[in-house]
Order: sequence, then structure tokens, then C-alpha cells
Amino acid sequence: MPRFRYQCSSCGQRFRREEVRYLCPQCGRDYRPGMPLTGVLEAQFDYGAIRKKFRKDKPDWSLFSAVEKRFFPPIPVGNTPFFQSVALGDELGFDSVWIKNDGLNPSASLKDRASFLVVAEANRLKERTIVAASTGNAASALAAICAAAGKRALIFVPQNAPKAKLVQMILYGATVVPVKGTYDDAFRLSLEYTAKRGGLNRNTAYHPLTIEGKKTVGLEIWWQNNWRVPDAILVPTGDGVIIGGVHKAFCDLKAAGLIPRLPRLLCVQAEKSNAIHRYVETGCYENAAHPDTVADSISVSIPSNAHLARRAVLDSGGFSITVSDDEILEGQRILAARTGVFAEPAASAVVAALKKLRGSKRLLRKAQIVLLITGHGLKDVEAAMRSIALPAAVEPALAAIEAALEARSAKGVR
Ligand SMILES: *Cc1c(COP(=O)(O)O)cnc(C)c1O
Ligand SMILES: [Zn+2]
Repeated sequence: MPRFRYQCSSCGQRFRREEVRYLCPQCGRDYRPGMPLTGVLEAQFDYGAIRKKFRKDKPDWSLFSAVEKRFFPPIPVGNTPFFQSVALGDELGFDSVWIKNDGLNPSASLKDRASFLVVAEANRLKERTIVAASTGNAASALAAICAAAGKRALIFVPQNAPKAKLVQMILYGATVVPVKGTYDDAFRLSLEYTAKRGGLNRNTAYHPLTIEGKKTVGLEIWWQNNWRVPDAILVPTGDGVIIGGVHKAFCDLKAAGLIPRLPRLLCVQAEKSNAIHRYVETGCYENAAHPDTVADSISVSIPSNAHLARRAVLDSGGFSITVSDDEILEGQRILAARTGVFAEPAASAVVAALKKLRGSKRLLRKAQIVLLITGHGLKDVEAAMRSIALPAAVEPALAAIEAALEARSAKGVR
């Protein structure tokens, strides 16, 4: 049995895992659609036991897991590459830039981590159907893990979700319901659905194990960084669950006495989807009125985990920054051209943010910086096409090719 209690992040009350499923029964009662969640639950482990048992020469990560290994779905998730890019550091003006490439998960986004743990929980609870609202990636992740686990995924997505993500969900065998409305509408509808019809709801932050699942990326960064804490981690932020999960990872490690300090967490949002950014900067929460951005995965009007996301930034000594769509697409091109990593726009936002921070006192040149690349670029090729032109075809003769190449170099095009 994993040793943990759920603790309400609003009132501090503790619960056994059998006593609660989603939000704190008291604080969650105040929740109304149209605002960030209140009473989000956090798993608190027996940190003294972890301290005694955890060994770096033979790390037992199940000590940090809220679901027993025997319930894990039969599909490997995580253990994605972590590496330094000198070329990207040179381009952006920082000495030590590292990439955690979570686009290389099975469904090509970090969301697989949350879906993995929630589906494990569904195995434990013997729930057959898992329901989620998603801008795309959470749903394609849930569909993939459900396919592997033999479960039914019921998914509500806004009708404008990128095609590749919809194709993924359907190919994995999920039941997909595109909703004529926003992600926030889909979120509300999925809560109404599970309240009435049952099944396990995987909505981000609403199910506490979405935070715990995303936490694993933070544990991996520590391990892959030779058990050192990087100075800063840039996190693309929509609902604020990834940044909350990364924070939770390092809080768990610190509580277990395994690390001396937290990394600074830098919240990166799109200019028009900036509710958490403003909340961090001003202390006052307000929805983002028109969260219109090319970075669909971080396009959120009402970020469900706004409260914990703000706490993650402030508690870690980090800060928040926004980037425009043009900057995001430029970040996408820089990342691809300098590192060979093709990231979707949401993930590329962190590259844009780092470019903006060049020469800033807020982030020193010599700091060890981690860019959390959360999703693969092939998920949204149309977005990338906005900032490039495909070359025209030439006659199949060497002379024609030479002429075309010359014309291009004259224009300064590759
Ligand atoms: C979901 C997602 C994010 C944002 O995560 P939140 O937990 O909503 O803040 C960032 N990038 C990608 C690719 C995502 O799918
Ligand atoms: Zn509470």
C-alpha cells in the first residue's frame, strides 16, 4: 500500500484515499463552473519512510507513487530524454540550456503521465469508463492509455482542436464528442456528465492524480541531472497542472530530505491566455477573456489549477512571463533548427520566453536552465505552416535544381 493521505490545498484537512475521489468535500462544494477549482487535493506521503528507503543506486520510484505498480497500464510512459543543447544556449545567450523532451511520450505529449496514473487508479477502482475534457492532448493521451489498458475513453473536446489530435483519439478507439464551444465549456460538460452518469473523471486538477502523474517529470529531471536540482525550469502553462506537478515533485524530494532547495519555476503563458500570469503578478485572479492563441494546448480562459500554479511560482522563487504568437512560432523554428526537436506551439513558448529573457537580471546567464518540451510538433503541422513557406517543385533535371538553389540563395532562403 502506498503510504499517503490526500490533503486539501485550501483548508488543509486530510483524508484517506477511500474517503475522497476528486475535490475536498467541503471546499470543493463552493466550486462553480466559471472559476478556478477550489479544494484541489494533494497527496502527502510518509516522507520519513521515503527518506529511509530511497537509494540513489537503486531508486524505487514507487515510493513516490499514489497508485500501486500492479495497477499500472501496460504501456511505458516517461523516461524521456534529458540533454544539454550547446547550440541552443549559444543562440539564446545562456551558458547551460537543457531540454526535457516529453514530446517523445507514446501519444507525443506530457499528458500521458497524468493519464497513465488516472487509468491505473481506474484499474484499482474497477472503473471501466474514463471521461475527460481536453483541448486535445489530455484526450489523445487518455485515449492512448485506455487503448493499452482495455478501458473506454469518453472525450469532450472543443470543435477547433487540431486535426492530428482528433485523429489520434479516434484511432486509439476513444468515443469523441466535439463540443460547439470552448475548452471551458467542454470541462463543465464533462463534470456534469460524470456527476450524472458515473465513470472516472480525468479532468485536469479535478482528479488529484493528474498532478501526481505530471509530478513524475520533475522526479526524472532530478535523476537525469545526476541528482542535482537545476536552477530554473521553464514550464508552458495553461491550466497550471504541469507547473503544479513539477513543483510537487521537488516539494516531495525536499520533504524527504533528498534535496536542499527547489528549482525556480518559470510560468510561461501566451499573451492572450494569461490568467495565471496576471494572478502571479497582481495577486488578483481574473479569467482570460479571449484566450486566443496559436498554442492551443495552453489556450485556457479559466485555468482550473490557478491557485496551486501561483503558489508553485511564488514558493519556488520563480516568476511568470508571456509571449506572443509570433514569438512562439519563432521559438518553434529556433528550437527545431538548433536542436532537431520539433515541438508544438505550446511547448515552443518556453523557447520564446528564454529568448526574451536574454540579458535580463531575472535569469542569470550562467544558470542551469531546463526547457520543458511538453508536446510534439507533428501534432499541429498547420500551426507550423503559418511561419514557413513550402518550396515549389522543380523539373526533374539537375540544371533546374541548380537554378532553383541559386535563386533561393540569392533571396537568402534555404
Ligand atoms: C496541457 C499542455 C500544457 C499545459 O499544461 P497545464 O497543466 O494545462 O498548464 C503545455 N503544453 C502542452 C503540449 C500541453 O499539452
Ligand atoms: Zn478543504
